[in-house]
Amino acid sequence: MNDCLFCKIVAGEIPSETVYEDEQVVVFRDINPKAEIHLLVIPRQHIASLDDLTPEQDALMAHMLRVLPQLAKAQGLDDGFRTIINTGKDGGQIIFHLHMHLLGGKDLPGFE
Ligand code: AMP
Ligand code: ZN
Repeated sequence: MNDCLFCKIVAGEIPSETVYEDEQVVVFRDINPKAEIHLLVIPRQHIASLDDLTPEQDALMAHMLRVLPQLAKAQGLDDGFRTIINTGKDGGQIIFHLHMHLLGGKDLPGFE
């Protein structure tokens, strides 16, 4: 867990462009944005992926979902946004600290 990149961002040991934080989550800009706006919403608590969730984290997950539209509005995404959660190797997950991608803006490609 000490080797977790996102835990280091939460701890302030690695810099990030943080746009929001509260007692449960930290939100920062993706270092390699795939859209005009590309944020990552992560829990302060280390949870590797959706595969590791327990009922104790239900309120945290609800909080993360409810923060998304507030972030989108704050970023000027008034007409919608996309949320992606990659899970596991075959789901394209690279960083094994649960995160929600929030993407939006005029560069957002279609979802075919
Ligand atoms: P995933 O494939 O869902 O695990 O996504 C990991 C995301 O983390 C990718 O979009 C990366 O560009 C992003 N990322 C990796 N390192 C950093 C970092 N130091 N700061 C911000 N975003 C990062
Ligand atoms: Zn972590």
